[in-house]
Amino acid sequence: ACTLNSAPAVASADAPPVYEDPALPVDDRVEDLLARMTLDDKIGQMTQVDRGALEDQSDLAAYRIGSVLSGGGSAPTPNTPQAWAEMYDSFQRAALSTPLGIPLIYGVDAVHGHNNVRGATVFPHNIGLGATRDPELVERIGRATAEEVAGTGIDWTFAPCLCVARDDRWGRTYESYGEKPELPGAMTTLIDGLQGPSLDAPGSILATAKHYLGDGGTTGGVDQGNTELSEAELREIHLPPFRAAVERGVGSVMVSYSSWNGVRMHGHRHLITDVLKGELGFTGFVVSDWAGVDQLDGREGFTAAEVRDAVNAGIDMVMVPYDYRRFTELLRGEVRAGRIPMERVDDANRRILAKKFELGLFENPYTDRSYTATIGSDAHRRLAREAVRKSQVLLKNSGGVLPLDKSAKVFVAGKNADDIGHQSGGWTITWQGGSGDITPGTTVVEGMRSLASDPSRVTYDRYGDGVDGSYDVAVAVVGETPYAEMEGDRRGSMGLDREDLATLERLRASGVPVVVVLVSGRPLDIAERLDGWDALLAAWLPGTEGAGVADVLYGDHAPTGKLPMTWMRSVSQQPVNDGDGKTPLFPFGHGLTYSADHRTADRRTGSFRAEVTVHGNVPAPSEGRRAAPVPADGPETGSVRSGTPRPSAPAAR
Ligand code: BGC
Repeated sequence: ACTLNSAPAVASADAPPVYEDPALPVDDRVEDLLARMTLDDKIGQMTQVDRGALEDQSDLAAYRIGSVLSGGGSAPTPNTPQAWAEMYDSFQRAALSTPLGIPLIYGVDAVHGHNNVRGATVFPHNIGLGATRDPELVERIGRATAEEVAGTGIDWTFAPCLCVARDDRWGRTYESYGEKPELPGAMTTLIDGLQGPSLDAPGSILATAKHYLGDGGTTGGVDQGNTELSEAELREIHLPPFRAAVERGVGSVMVSYSSWNGVRMHGHRHLITDVLKGELGFTGFVVSDWAGVDQLDGREGFTAAEVRDAVNAGIDMVMVPYDYRRFTELLRGEVRAGRIPMERVDDANRRILAKKFELGLFENPYTDRSYTATIGSDAHRRLAREAVRKSQVLLKNSGGVLPLDKSAKVFVAGKNADDIGHQSGGWTITWQGGSGDITPGTTVVEGMRSLASDPSRVTYDRYGDGVDGSYDVAVAVVGETPYAEMEGDRRGSMGLDREDLATLERLRASGVPVVVVLVSGRPLDIAERLDGWDALLAAWLPGTEGAGVADVLYGDHAPTGKLPMTWMRSVSQQPVNDGDGKTPLFPFGHGLTYSADHRTADRRTGSFRAEVTVHGNVPAPSEGRRAAPVPADGPETGSVRSGTPRPSAPAAR
């Protein structure tokens, strides 16, 4: 059974079909397979269904479904790595039972680690990674994420989000690496980590550059809103990260819900087909966003015109995600009627099938259990902790109150000091995220106790009750509570909530110095409070390894993070971005550190006096500035777009 590569791609009577031969070039295998496929097979490849929407597992084969996703955390029960792998393998078995045995590709939102899976390592959200200015670190995070994802069988993640967030009122600001195109552009190294040395290398998965194009540039920071820019501005601000992603060989691109100058991206043939596939030379496949096609006309439910416009615009796979019966019927009708050319259907199939071959799915369709043990492993948690400490941005440090002395008597308070859910943010276990022990990890206060010379020196009360002048210092860990997508837009005031303000007031009244640690997905409106705080550390959304925040508080690691976004003076200043002539509270790139010698000095003298040094401006990114955040449980009075909401509530995902 020896195959000569030079042999013509024609199978003899009893030789296996060409498409099944891994020794042959992918293009030959694709053409051979395509020639054997019926129209229904091809339609199925273009159809992606949410696992929760599958009425019957047998529908996978009956409809020849090519892809399944777990949208926003839609997880098997129980939510364990084992259950994920079993679910994946059983779906894959169903797909392989079809006449041509084309494997499924299964996608998840592993956007900060394999965040849907209980017990997985959860890394900082992108805004924190942008603050690290460390593309090599981000590549290692991509690799670790891919291994954990592969350990549950999953082949594909909807990451990285390459949005350039320009208005911090946007509820997805934390999914952005920064307000200037250079930052997301530099962090496309995540793709190298995810996709590995080759897609079929063990522990590699397919990446997605999203959301194409202009998602972070909508007017008013409205989620799924309208990006009103000239083509030149759109190309200058929002296109470069996608160009970088294509250059790195990203396997898929997801279309944005947003519109450009009033035209929805899901029907934008010029930007999808001419610019992305033509000009940029993207050879992978384009996937729609969740129900992005069925909301093309602004109403719920698919119409033939929506399906036609989206596919003809260049969308190759539709994230349906629910009504796959109606979607496949409409697509079939449009193709039969000649309103969607067969060449378009074949092109979409070629793009999808090529990635399935490149991933090695035909040869190795089932879960590689050798990666299951990497899920939440010590090595990955160490990497996450490193990322957490490198993402901390020290914004203020009066009188060198930081770093803390390990023997200091510290009173810790605040709703985000001891809460894994809060410190992880949205897209963690569930779409909107949650509170409390939603997955294993280390909270900030636990991390502090592990570093203090005697854990009993660290007292914690969420509300600050019991604080008094006998403490050396108080640390308030406050800020936002989790949200995702449009939910974040609704927190319009972007200030601290009532609970935080009351907690801070109790600490202040005790007379001890107050260190504020902000756990938030964006800059918050805090200018009026700043004078009352001795130090301010932006921790962003660190994920499961809260000890990384403690590493910086105690000075085991000096802060090195730089603001990836301009910090507004007040929410009314939004949008505020570097170079726009406004006067922000802290400029893009701002970040203090401890003096170079504080640590050696501390060790010798036991004192922890530290000088504050302002680091120079960040070299990596160019100009650009940006704006603000939202209060934790603030009033829902913010800008709410009355667009089409998700067809079902968060709980349904
Ligand atoms: C989001 C995408 C995500 C998709 C699948 C959408 O609502 O916009 O970022 O990948 O859902 O969960």
